[in-house]
Amino acid sequence: MTKSVFRFGGGSADGDASQRDLLGGKGANLAEMAGIGLPVPPGLTIATSVCAAFYDAGGKLPDDVKADTLAALAHVEQVTGKTFGDAADPLLVSVRSGARVSMPGMMDTVLNLGLNDVTVEGLARASGNPRFAWDSYRRFIQMYGDVVLELDHYLFEDALEIAKEDRGVTLDTELTAEDLQGLVARYKAIVAENWGDAFPQDPHEQLWGAIGAVFGSWRSDRARTYRRLNDIPESWGTAVTVQAMVFGNRGDTSATGVAFTRDPANGERVTYGEYLINAQGEDVVAGIRTPQYLTKAARERAGARAASMEEAMPVVFAELAKVFALLETHYRDMQDIEFTVEDGRLWMLQTRSGKRTAKAALKIAVDMASEGLITEAEAVLRVEAGALDQLLHPTLDPHAPRDVITRGLPASPGAASGAVVFDSDTAEARAKMGDAVILVRTETSPEDIHGMHAARGILTARGGMTSHAAVVARGMGRPCVSGAGSISIDLTARTMRVGNRMIGEGDRITLDGTTGEVMVGEVATVEPELAGDFGLLMEWADKHRRLKVRTNAETPADCRTARGFGAEGIGLCRTEHMFFEPSRITSVRRMILAEDGAGRASALAELLPEQRADFARIFREMAGLPVTIRLLDPPLHEFLPHDEAGFADVAEATGLSVGTVRRRIAELHEFNPMLGHRGCRLGITYPEIYAMQARAIFEAAVAVAKDTGEAVVPEVMVPLVATARELEITKAAIDAEARAVFAETGRTLDYMVGTMIELPRAALRAAEIAEFAEFFSFGTNDLTQTALGISRDDASRFLGVYVEQGIYPRDPFVGIDEEGVGELVQIATDRGRAARPGLKLGICGEHGGDPASIAFCERLGLDYVSCSPYRVPIARLAAAQAALRAKG
Ligand code: PEP
Ligand code: MG
Repeated sequence: MTKSVFRFGGGSADGDASQRDLLGGKGANLAEMAGIGLPVPPGLTIATSVCAAFYDAGGKLPDDVKADTLAALAHVEQVTGKTFGDAADPLLVSVRSGARVSMPGMMDTVLNLGLNDVTVEGLARASGNPRFAWDSYRRFIQMYGDVVLELDHYLFEDALEIAKEDRGVTLDTELTAEDLQGLVARYKAIVAENWGDAFPQDPHEQLWGAIGAVFGSWRSDRARTYRRLNDIPESWGTAVTVQAMVFGNRGDTSATGVAFTRDPANGERVTYGEYLINAQGEDVVAGIRTPQYLTKAARERAGARAASMEEAMPVVFAELAKVFALLETHYRDMQDIEFTVEDGRLWMLQTRSGKRTAKAALKIAVDMASEGLITEAEAVLRVEAGALDQLLHPTLDPHAPRDVITRGLPASPGAASGAVVFDSDTAEARAKMGDAVILVRTETSPEDIHGMHAARGILTARGGMTSHAAVVARGMGRPCVSGAGSISIDLTARTMRVGNRMIGEGDRITLDGTTGEVMVGEVATVEPELAGDFGLLMEWADKHRRLKVRTNAETPADCRTARGFGAEGIGLCRTEHMFFEPSRITSVRRMILAEDGAGRASALAELLPEQRADFARIFREMAGLPVTIRLLDPPLHEFLPHDEAGFADVAEATGLSVGTVRRRIAELHEFNPMLGHRGCRLGITYPEIYAMQARAIFEAAVAVAKDTGEAVVPEVMVPLVATARELEITKAAIDAEARAVFAETGRTLDYMVGTMIELPRAALRAAEIAEFAEFFSFGTNDLTQTALGISRDDASRFLGVYVEQGIYPRDPFVGIDEEGVGELVQIATDRGRAARPGLKLGICGEHGGDPASIAFCERLGLDYVSCSPYRVPIARLAAAQAALRAKG
């Protein structure tokens, strides 16, 4: 039988950090910390494998697991010298969840379990602190009532507020033992009224109830949403950790806190965190009381008065600082830590790799490599490629005027503007309609996860730097300003008031999560700066990268941006974008509406110099690098108007009658233009179009090569090829233009002719096609559309449901469908290369900028990926990571 209950504490542990799949992140790290001799309260972890068994048994723990849990609990009793349920000095435990990857705030926790009407008296006597005992009991009933008995938590919160009002106090800590005893009686009455039975007094019944509820919370709505957003499989399950309680709420020599070994917002090497004297764990995270700083420096920087831990508890703080250093060297990564001080004694309750912003991830990786803690290759692997997106986007223009209405904590960096919304459902609904929204809440809770995801930025009136809003926003890469205390929200009127300013739902505001500023209106932004750590990490990445990274670009400005980001050529220049330029759309339309070849030829003659100039500008911008230019692809009707007013405009501009324009447009109408008269089909039926484009390419290339003395390497690409014969015909025409231009100019240059592989037939017949193609570029947008039979344009209407049900693991237009489309790419790669050794292979569909798809391209051994300019750094990093992972 496989082991399902693991013990830790008392100087040893059954497991270690390598067993996170089985013990969950929390359980594995508690075992690891106990194993290396850190002060960890003893406990036990019920393995993730039990989660599935629990559900299979209809929500019950298997008997053998129960027996093992009791045996492990006896070990905890032995280590602590206390007995569970003992009337004189009871052992109390916490029951917590812990999945393989951390899901902050997504699942449930119960603290102080084991208290009842008898043991609370024992705890009061044994601790000599009745206030603490009754406070612990009321917290336990509240948490148990919420998590296990599923009673509305407002019932308890309201009762607490009333108790404080009755006593005329504002802080929980101002309630006396007697007040709390009264509150416990009220809480028990709430349970009896709403649950229909008395609060369970038997500690074992409490324990099984709590373990069941924690396993049950794996399938809660919010946990499911979180998993969907983070690609976490349902099958992983959660572990449950039962651990001896230590108390941070035992008076003024007790405290509880959370810390990061480096600053998770900017990556600086400082101790970062918050603590609360005389409080229990959840108080810090919940944002109910405003926590104090850990270090004197942080307190001074914030201009806060309440003593830092360094000042208030210097001895324990020094010990804590040592533990931080030890944990960083041990784990070789930034750690996120929870600790408790009980009567001046430090206890570690959790450590894990800390979530961080992209900016911090980058700095920490580069710093740790420089400190010799990790290698350069490890640093490259440490920064999630997709997260670089956060650094590649504009920040607020420092010179733009801003109307700052208030300031909160800089909880998650970056800037965002959008319409104010006051609840998560509205945020989601408006974002779906394409609106940029800022979610404004008094404080967020795990129920807000979908709204936070939909929002561009998050603003809260309450909560610290480690509040739910702050932690979740940083993980998602959303700018967040938290604890902006001067905001008051009126949910009924759907307004927020800041001083004498009133802002209604839908009004635009701007947040700067880097400074904490909140502004009215939209503020201008500036492009990011990519020097320093960023440049260094990219340099390290490039050392390990095999795949080349090109860009999809058609304007000189995009080419420049992409080169700045390190693009090594153009993988796709879509020439149709040039046809839309106002200066030439009329010639394009004359060409399309022409009744015969001669009419087309005269319009094309007007377009030739324009196209030549387009290509010359691009060749100049990309000097020395390969440039793939794709001949015209979209169906011609895309260039034409659709209504009478438009027909009249075109008639006037082209000199044709409105009747002729209307008739020709009707003739050109297609039922399914995606599968219609487009791509090389245009080149076959109207050879003049491709001839003009090929001539423009070669004339421009010859001219720029002559001018600059640099090699210009045009790669002429034919779209939507299905058969070898199509390419044979088009290639012959392209070669003929090249020969003509070379003869006319007396100069030659190297060029290539290749094709997009974007139809299943082309992938299958790649061997024949390769006879005429010197390169293939996988157009995985069209290949996905045609292989799956799902239109690119309206797939989003139902794909969400498909992904939710696991029919496709991700949106196949974002992450390549490896099984289906991927197999077609594999087939074309194998057959193409077999027919033409040295065939150059790339990808230019959207997948070329998606890290997971790039890893797939690495496995296939493609030569390059091509993506939009802003994704070039992401692709460079993802390509390096894929190469490093392939090496193992
Ligand atoms: C493709 O189909 O993947 C492609 C890159 O071409 P387009 O998106 O222009 O159809
Ligand atoms: Mg295409």
